[in-house]
Amino acid sequence: MLDTLTQRLAKVVKTMRGQARITEENSKEMLREVRLALLEADVALPVVRELTNRIKEKALGEEVVGSLNPGQVLVSIVQRELTAVIGGDLPEKEREINLACTPPAIILLAGLQGAGKTTTAGKLARWLIRNQKKKVLTVSADVYRPAAIEQLKTVSEQAGAEFFPSTTDQKPLDIAAAALDYAKRHFFDVLIVDTAGRLSIDERMMQEASDLSAFLKPIETFFVVDAMVGQDAINTAKVFNDRLPLTGIILTKVDGDSRGGAALSVRQVTGKPIKFIGTGEKLDGFDTFNPEAMASRILG
Ligand code: GDP
Repeated sequence: MLDTLTQRLAKVVKTMRGQARITEENSKEMLREVRLALLEADVALPVVRELTNRIKEKALGEEVVGSLNPGQVLVSIVQRELTAVIGGDLPEKEREINLACTPPAIILLAGLQGAGKTTTAGKLARWLIRNQKKKVLTVSADVYRPAAIEQLKTVSEQAGAEFFPSTTDQKPLDIAAAALDYAKRHFFDVLIVDTAGRLSIDERMMQEASDLSAFLKPIETFFVVDAMVGQDAINTAKVFNDRLPLTGIILTKVDGDSRGGAALSVRQVTGKPIKFIGTGEKLDGFDTFNPEAMASRILG
């Protein structure tokens, strides 16, 4: 088992005994440990660099010995900076889902196959129904996998949302137009659109998502990404962010055994807020994103 960042810092602090302040000299080892621990937590290298620079800046000159528990001083600096970098520095409003438009508020979900889009569509529908008393319609524009359409139907029913049927011989834009028309005529508050995903990024899939986005002009476009994929998340996030006007990120499978370093990377690369996390296969495994809790998880 790898040492957690907290354990690593505790070790470093022991070697710093007798030194009153964190200095350029004695911070070297501390920063090295922070760097290694972040890399082990799957945080991408450029993000690690930026973060360690921030931590260094904040830590220099801090009293470590005067405090009751010097390790805690370091840990709290690291925790604070981690929290800020993953979104803690954003106003609450920017971390919340935005539905402020003439209904139906359209939410587009994009991401690779297996990221958890369809499950997330069901979870988000359930969350909106329970927490915001919204009337929610879901539709699948995945015309490549009949099973995906069927899966969305199942999770929508479980969530208590209405499902707008589609078939694989339809064009995604036609499906979107029909669903939007239905949502308007039946006074739905929210329309959740699930899109097709491939195992790796492919041009046709990106173009299709981009066309859907241009047509629907969703108020929220969420990039759904699996927290377990670690480093790979950064490249995928870049491409989706370049091609779609993303408004937020939904990080899935946070219940897995990864440390959550992907959260840091994806947030940093896209500059977009993480708005929700998936914490299980069931529909209630879903929550709003809490930067402090995620920072604690990365710290271990
Ligand atoms: P899609 O291809 O992006 O639509 O992904 P799916 O919604 O089909 O999800 C792929 C797999 O990940 C399924 O087995 C889901 O049950 C699982 N999954 C989705 N979200 C989570 C989550 O938050 N935690 C866990 N443990 N599994 C999840």
